[in-house]
Amino acid sequence: MCSRNGNSFPRTVTFRLTLLTAVTITAVSIVFFAVMYLALTRNLAFRMDEDLVSDVNQMAAIYQVQGREELGRQIEFEIDSEGTNRMFIRLMGSNGKVLLATDMEVWDGINTREAGALPEEDGDAFETVYMPRKGCHARIISRRIAPDRILQIGCTLEEDEDLLRIYRRGSILAVLVLLVCGGVTGWLMGRNAMSGVERVRQTAVSIGKGDLLSRVPLGNEGQEINDLARAFNDMLERIQGVVIELREVTNHIAHDLRSPITRIRGMAETTMTGEQTVEEYREMAEIVVEESDRLVGMINVMLDIAMTEAGDRLAAREDVDIVRVVESACEIFQTIAEDRGQTLEVDGFDGPLVIRGNLSQLQRMVSNLLDNACKFTSPGGVIRLSLGSTKTHVTTTVTDTGIGISQEDLPRIFEQFYRADRSRTTPGNGLGLSHVKAIVRAHCGEIRVESAPGAGSSFTVHLPRNRDQR
Ligand code: ADP
Repeated sequence: MCSRNGNSFPRTVTFRLTLLTAVTITAVSIVFFAVMYLALTRNLAFRMDEDLVSDVNQMAAIYQVQGREELGRQIEFEIDSEGTNRMFIRLMGSNGKVLLATDMEVWDGINTREAGALPEEDGDAFETVYMPRKGCHARIISRRIAPDRILQIGCTLEEDEDLLRIYRRGSILAVLVLLVCGGVTGWLMGRNAMSGVERVRQTAVSIGKGDLLSRVPLGNEGQEINDLARAFNDMLERIQGVVIELREVTNHIAHDLRSPITRIRGMAETTMTGEQTVEEYREMAEIVVEESDRLVGMINVMLDIAMTEAGDRLAAREDVDIVRVVESACEIFQTIAEDRGQTLEVDGFDGPLVIRGNLSQLQRMVSNLLDNACKFTSPGGVIRLSLGSTKTHVTTTVTDTGIGISQEDLPRIFEQFYRADRSRTTPGNGLGLSHVKAIVRAHCGEIRVESAPGAGSSFTVHLPRNRDQR
């Protein structure tokens, strides 16, 4: 038998569970029936010996008190009720000569006893002998009831052996039934448990065929299977998120590349007509260089983000004083802000705030935040840069009184190429904040943003002060 995915049935978990359950139940039942059989055998033998001892006691007492004739009558009475096929009784002399006996036709082959071979008074000799004519065993007790008299009583074990035979057959039948029941139970259990795994497999197959929206339905097989299904679904959600993000990034790249390339192509086409003046050619060449620079710049930033995320850039770590980084960034942006009619304020900080990191990356981080603050703040607005520190972290905050960000856009501004400004009138490519986030992450820090439309924005970066404290 083969399962749907081509594995042979003996290699499936269901088969192994079936086998295990069947074997376990069978082994346990065999042991149980064997123990019960032994107990039953012993019990029957014990009761038989007890009955024989009781009979021999009674006969011995009659012989000793009332004599041989009364014993003869008692023997006849006893045999009448039991039957000569079931029991025999005989009295023997010291040399084994039979003095008194019941009908011994079916009991041939059973030896008489020499008195000397028996123990002294009250010592009983038991033996079990096979009776070929009856096809069963017999249990025999011999006792010396007087110095030269031996009393022998035998009883067939036919009924006990019949009972044991029935028990054996019943046990074999019961073991076979339990084997089948165990197998069926194991198979049902295995199938039930595996049906959850099968659902996960089917979902994986349909995703493999391109249905990315497929999810594993939850079932009743048990907590573990549902946990597996949930973990699988969570993973699929994340993969789907990444795929969607990737598609968007690709769309954005295509969109952002198209405009400069179209312009470059337009310039080239115009050049081919050959009717421009040298001055016009120079202007067109400048535009081509400018657009090419934009493209190269964008590609460089993307590469930088990728390398930062991979941790390559941080191979070159050094002690960096964040106060110095902020001061030099402010020197540059002071002029830019003034040109735009904005005020750039810096909350000074006494003394160095040293962290272990990459200087140029940290400069890039502060510049990007300041650049955005300037870009998205109207003339007359205020941009504030402040530093703070705790025992373990250095905090850099860039606050502005600009246009702010809507709650809808806030969770997405760190995605590559995402721009809240739908009209795309503000210069930019949507890579600045994703670059900042990659740098912050590479320094084991975190970035938080608070913003509301029209109420300005505040970006706060927390960086660990040094490696040991981290
Ligand atoms: P870019 O600035 O090149 O567009 P960023 O990744 O730096 O790309 O920023 C992503 C988007 O987040 C911006 O397009 C803008 O809509 C929004 N944003 C970033 N900083 C600010 C800010 N200080 N004020 C308002 N919006 C901002």
